Amino acid sequence: MSRRGASGRREAFGVDGLEADYVVVGAGSAGAALAARLSEDPTVSVLLLEAGAPDKALELHVPAAFSKLFRGAYDWNYDTVPQPELEGRTVYWPRGKTLGGSSSLNAMMWIRGFAADYDEWADAAGQGWSWDALVPYFRRVERTADPVDPTQGVDGAQAVEHQRDPRSQTAAFLAAAREAGHPVTPPNLPAGQGFSQTMVSEHRGGRASTADSYLRPAKRRAGLRVVTGAHVRRVTFAPSAGTGTGSPGAAVGAAVDAPAVAGAEPVEPRATGVYVDIDGITRHIRARREVILSGGAINTPQLLMLSGIGPAAHLAEHGIDVVVDAPDVGANLQDHLVAGLAPAADAGTLYDAEKAIELVRYLTGRRGMLSSNVGEAYGFVRTPVADRAGMPQGLPDIEIIFAPVPYVGEGLVPTPRHGLTVGAILLRPRSRGTIRLASADPLAAPLIDPAYLSDAEGLDAATMLAGLAECERLLDTDAMRTVTTGGWVQPEGGERMTPEERAELSMRRYSHTLYHPVGTARMGTDAASVVDPELRVRGVSGLRVADASVMPTVIRGHTNAPAIVIGEVAADLLRGRR
Ligand SMILES: Cc1cc2nc3c(=O)[nH]c(=O)nc-3n(C[C@H](O)[C@H](O)[C@H](O)COP(=O)(O)OP(=O)(O)OC[C@H]3O[C@@H](n4cnc5c(N)ncnc54)[C@H](O)[C@@H]3O)c2cc1C
Repeated sequence: MSRRGASGRREAFGVDGLEADYVVVGAGSAGAALAARLSEDPTVSVLLLEAGAPDKALELHVPAAFSKLFRGAYDWNYDTVPQPELEGRTVYWPRGKTLGGSSSLNAMMWIRGFAADYDEWADAAGQGWSWDALVPYFRRVERTADPVDPTQGVDGAQAVEHQRDPRSQTAAFLAAAREAGHPVTPPNLPAGQGFSQTMVSEHRGGRASTADSYLRPAKRRAGLRVVTGAHVRRVTFAPSAGTGTGSPGAAVGAAVDAPAVAGAEPVEPRATGVYVDIDGITRHIRARREVILSGGAINTPQLLMLSGIGPAAHLAEHGIDVVVDAPDVGANLQDHLVAGLAPAADAGTLYDAEKAIELVRYLTGRRGMLSSNVGEAYGFVRTPVADRAGMPQGLPDIEIIFAPVPYVGEGLVPTPRHGLTVGAILLRPRSRGTIRLASADPLAAPLIDPAYLSDAEGLDAATMLAGLAECERLLDTDAMRTVTTGGWVQPEGGERMTPEERAELSMRRYSHTLYHPVGTARMGTDAASVVDPELRVRGVSGLRVADASVMPTVIRGHTNAPAIVIGEVAADLLRGRR
């Protein structure tokens, strides 16, 4: 039986029955990869529940249009709580709400980070998460056009290609990097990366989300069902004699959904399924083997807390019965903050991307400005603050990002005129934030507090300002002078300011997220971690997390690639292949 989802459209791949061996919550970067891989085994059934509608809108597939999706129907449309270090501003946090999740809404920059980032994961969660252990997974994920390094995959699921039509200013930016003494290297080397033109998760000029890369090729498999318009409210539990994973707190068991047998020994609660809203009706879906949460770094900790797994006192505030007192759920939030400088330019920038001729170019040959992912180049630098912060030698603390357009107001306001963006991304923030419940209502947005630039030593702000000084150095090159006018789009009136004043304003008034939250259900070998190295939620059985929330630390790169890798690893763990 097929059915219609909340969007009124026929669901992507049809659904019948309300139970499955594996119930995966969230069809994003990790969840889509996980569900598709699990369904390769014809003996199991997989139900993938996605809160958003199918990925039908044109803007989801046209690369340069990604910011047109912001605050729209395919966006969870979050805002942080006010950030004291950013002039008390709230910061807009888009997240994808459709098939492909944030991989359907993101800027398609394929930047895997450094081998050392994953070795740091291994320090926290064991050798199974080291770079060497993950290389086979990157190779399994990637279908790289023109790879330059043996760690890059060529026959994986996810298309990764060079940009088809980068703007001429992007070449000028890379020339500026050379002029300023930086190496220009091929992208995605595991070490020793300099400045590069961005490789993109696109296929022949169109976005390649995980819905495209993983779900569409799997859609004829009988064992995989994908239901859109399915908002999961919480996980259900029953008492079980399951194998323990070690609990960060008491497995209280008060909120289990089936009664314990009188007089029996207390046992670890076992996840039995989920409550989900579909077409306005709340249903219970049973998971015969396991429930896997892949709702992303904001919604997964929210779901855990709604399910009774989280800091006991916080759950009590909201009248939620405690299943496991797990203080680290929703803690350890890390994100990449970016602050951009936007000098004015004369012509030829993506400011013209909405001209009719560009639509014709795109629709006829998938070329032109609309095939741009906007963030066309980037580079890694180590500022003088890195030594002070004790960062291991040879590793960067700032990524410089380049866009051939003024990326002001994140595209939510009309681009005022031709210009460019050179921005500094704080790669390894020391500040740590939280996700907390605003209410026990599963449909209410949680409280997001990244606590940007809040570290006691002030090293995050110092690093950011050092990164912005490097942006100014790059702008002050012959190469960049050929493509800029001397005027400023942002900060407005920048020509009358000192570089230091521009940097301070850029950081405090105009900085925003680079959309990479992680760490809110961190994995670890320590008893306080939320999930163990096999991604099992501590204190219960039958429940795992597979998405960006398990990353113990944010990588020096962009988070889509590692999120997909986590989905792939989770599939192997569940299939007993690791
Ligand atoms: C605007 C933007 C730009 C970005 N740019 C880049 C980039 O250029 N390069 C890069 O590498 N990374 C980028 N990222 C980050 C990257 O896309 C994410 O880190 C990655 O997609 C996270 O994957 P995930 O599986 O953890 O979560 P997601 O991909 O966000 O998936 C979570 C899924 O779960 C669903 N879901 C959540 N709650 C529920 C519920 N209760 N019930 C049912 N379903 C639910 C969501 O709708 C979503 O589909 C960007 C992100 C954004 C938002």
